[in-house]
Amino acid sequence: MLGFDLFRLTVVLALALVAGLLAGNITLALLIAVSGYLVWQSIMQKRLLHWIQQRKQFEPPEVPGIFEELSFEIDRLRDRHKRRKKRLSRYIKDFQNATRALPDATIVIDHLGTVRWANKAAGATLGVNWPADNGQRLTNLVRSPELRNFIEHLEPDSSLNLVSPIDDLTYLSLRLVPIAAEDWLLVARDVTDLQRANQARSDFVANVSHELRTPITVFRGYLEALRSQQDQMPEQWHTAFSHMSEHALRMQNIIEDLLLLSRLERQAVPAEMAPVQVSSMLTSIQQQAQDLSGDQGHLFSLELDAKFRIMGAEKELFSAFSNIIFNAVKYTPPRGVIRIRWYRDDKGAHMEVQDNGIGIPPHDIPRVTERFYRVDEGRSRAHGGTGLGLAIVKHVLQRHKATLTVTSELGKGSTFHCSFPLTAIVEADLSGAIEQDESEIA
Ligand code: ADP
Repeated sequence: MLGFDLFRLTVVLALALVAGLLAGNITLALLIAVSGYLVWQSIMQKRLLHWIQQRKQFEPPEVPGIFEELSFEIDRLRDRHKRRKKRLSRYIKDFQNATRALPDATIVIDHLGTVRWANKAAGATLGVNWPADNGQRLTNLVRSPELRNFIEHLEPDSSLNLVSPIDDLTYLSLRLVPIAAEDWLLVARDVTDLQRANQARSDFVANVSHELRTPITVFRGYLEALRSQQDQMPEQWHTAFSHMSEHALRMQNIIEDLLLLSRLERQAVPAEMAPVQVSSMLTSIQQQAQDLSGDQGHLFSLELDAKFRIMGAEKELFSAFSNIIFNAVKYTPPRGVIRIRWYRDDKGAHMEVQDNGIGIPPHDIPRVTERFYRVDEGRSRAHGGTGLGLAIVKHVLQRHKATLTVTSELGKGSTFHCSFPLTAIVEADLSGAIEQDESEIA
């Protein structure tokens, strides 16, 4: 086409040259011819521009030469763009139809918690209606302090269990997933059935434990009474009685631990929170641990910062810390070293128990906080273990927004580290000092 344009220009110039020769003024003739050609070109450009500016699709204009080729190319691109647009809007429509039909409430929010999109289920589950609530703050639509806190922190893949703001009998499990630089997907699933099943399981365990408590107490009472008259019994019964007493005690311990666990499960946060002087609590637990160690000669080392307290439920913390410390005694051979630390840093408050005992195999570490999970059942039973101690520890720490980290090496020892958030630290008690104590039990 470019060749044809050049040919046309050459013909125009040649004709102008001939006309100039005949008229006797070549320059004027060439000037008129070039000007005419430029004017024609500009008319063609205008026509092409006008056609491009049309929003609606018209047939390409009648423009000869390079303009025809240009208009053809543009027309082809327009066509392709139109087809792609159609395909994309079909995808979007399909996707929106699918998410709109999802049984789980799905809401897109931005980093400020503003609703940008919601599906149908969001209306029935959370009371967020689309498009009526477009641009509204989610926390204004769902008035729940837990949800406000959840959304303000915007942590990837975080989850929250919540009673539905619309129906008190519906339990929801909320999840937050980042989907774009500033956008988040909030998915709320109805977990009422799961919650009911958990509740039924928990109630069953609590009821059974409660029912067994009295018979076992009576049973133990009679056993003790009989044992006190052991000298009047035949010699061969002595071992049987001591086994019966030992197992009755174990059964009672399991029942007490199960009852404690179901109490912990029933409430998400402890009812009575007060400042707790953990350093003196740990000193008293260490004394009990010394008694438990007896003549095994464990060496205890205490590093306790008595200058601060934490907000907590004293009985629960006592139960959790004593479980960890007594475990260190149970699973550390005689004359082993047990180090107990209580300190604070810029991340929070920490309780750490380190022993140089038997350790835990790596694949068992994630499971030791499960109910009745024991690495070595025989050893646990021999020490009167219920297999519930660390499950209690986990629950107590969760209720205090604290975390448990277990590190261990088989045959070398274990470290149980409890971290409490900075917000748990309540005040500085300047009368105290760092207590250091090292004692060996004879
Ligand atoms: P148990 O009553 O059996 O001690 P726990 O829940 O307290 O139950 O602990 C679960 C298991 O974790 C124990 O049976 C034991 O195998 C392991 N364990 C706990 N603490 C220690 C420790 N300090 N050293 C080695 N193993 C431990």
